[in-house]
Amino acid sequence: MSTPTRITQADCRALDAQDPLAPLRAHFHLPEGLIYLDGNSLGAQPKAALARAQQVVGQEWGQQLIRAWNSASWIDLPQRLGAQLAPLIGAGADEVVVTDTTSINLYKVLHAALHIARSERPQARTIVSERSNFPTDLYIAQSLCQQLGFELALIEPDELPAWLQPERAASVAVLMLTHVNYRTGAMHDMAAITAAAHAQGLLTIWDLCHSAGAVPVDLSGSGADFAVGCSYKYLNGGPGAPAFVWVSPRHADRFWQPLSGWFGHAAPFQFDPQYRPASGIARYLCGTQPIVSLSLLQCGLDVFDQAQALGGMAALRKKSLALTDLFIALVEQECAGHDLGLATPREHAQRGSQVSLTRPWGAGADGQDSGAYAIMQALIARGVIGDFRAGGGPGSAHLDILRFGFTPLYVGFEDVWQAVAQLREVLDSGQWRQPRFNQRQAVT
Ligand SMILES: *Cc1c(COP(=O)(O)O)cnc(C)c1O
Repeated sequence: MSTPTRITQADCRALDAQDPLAPLRAHFHLPEGLIYLDGNSLGAQPKAALARAQQVVGQEWGQQLIRAWNSASWIDLPQRLGAQLAPLIGAGADEVVVTDTTSINLYKVLHAALHIARSERPQARTIVSERSNFPTDLYIAQSLCQQLGFELALIEPDELPAWLQPERAASVAVLMLTHVNYRTGAMHDMAAITAAAHAQGLLTIWDLCHSAGAVPVDLSGSGADFAVGCSYKYLNGGPGAPAFVWVSPRHADRFWQPLSGWFGHAAPFQFDPQYRPASGIARYLCGTQPIVSLSLLQCGLDVFDQAQALGGMAALRKKSLALTDLFIALVEQECAGHDLGLATPREHAQRGSQVSLTRPWGAGADGQDSGAYAIMQALIARGVIGDFRAGGGPGSAHLDILRFGFTPLYVGFEDVWQAVAQLREVLDSGQWRQPRFNQRQAVT
């Protein structure tokens, strides 16, 4: 057996020098000296966003006022942005709209899916999702279960195959999964699971919050039924930027969605007292959209258009895997003996664009919690920004997580070196034990 060679800072610098995507970083405003590994929570600011904000607020709103709905085409911004986003998720240009939040869009598509299920397979009364799915997805499902008389079954990922066998699947209406898990970064095989679900008559809803702009997605190719996702993470749309919703053309015209507002009407400006849904995905719009936020998202999507010439999502994926591989290897090389575990799969096909490290319960400063929160706070104080996600507490299968997102558009290989060097300092020095790093804030 050969001894693994130590990775050096010079190696990382050499990887940056060879990186064909390195020029894309210049499209982002990143504060000097900061290493930003939280693009999976809030993407960095495209430099163009500031000028775009000035244009939309100063010119379009300021000068054009109401006329801008036509003159600046505000009216079809949800569709135009949907068309620009579509190639990143393997959707047709007229199959996606950018609108509302992920939570709201999930409400719409889950409601539509349950309607279809109820008419086609009335005995199927269960929604299956994962216990570690992002909670808002589960909360929305819980509300719809109450309203429409369904049940929510929460499972662990390894229980999924059993639920796709005929006996259990007979009771399942909808399989609602997040493609890349927000806690662990584990990625599902969308095509295989969708095919297995369809073989049993189940409908699938995919949440792409941690996938869009992070990993290649092929909704059409995988035969999926419904998808939602946010634009403020890897798509760099800005804080609270509107989300997207995609419905397979097989289903788009079959039902009203439950939030039948005037923007989803076939002819909103006829002010007809009777609702008539627009055809296709436009019926998934509800009311007047946040034009300023929508406008800024275009700057994030424009960077992906630039990336197209450098190899697009395939090249971004290759770099993302190289970054996460490097991070894992460096943590193992530099931070051994500090009780860090790896929650993210090593298998490339099962990994999104983040790495999650765990700490066991009782490893915290007071011997109580895991210490993960304090370690992240100490790291942030040193200019390396990741985040912390709480586990289920002692006795739970879900440990506390130190989460590091790697956005290949603007994170470099030497950034990874620096981040791990700082993590090592925090751990070796025991600095994270200081009380100031152990005070929990509202947003972790
Ligand atoms: C980030 C995220 C959300 C956020 O939903 P909002 O309605 O935009 O707040 C939902 N689901 C998943 C899986 C997420 O990762």
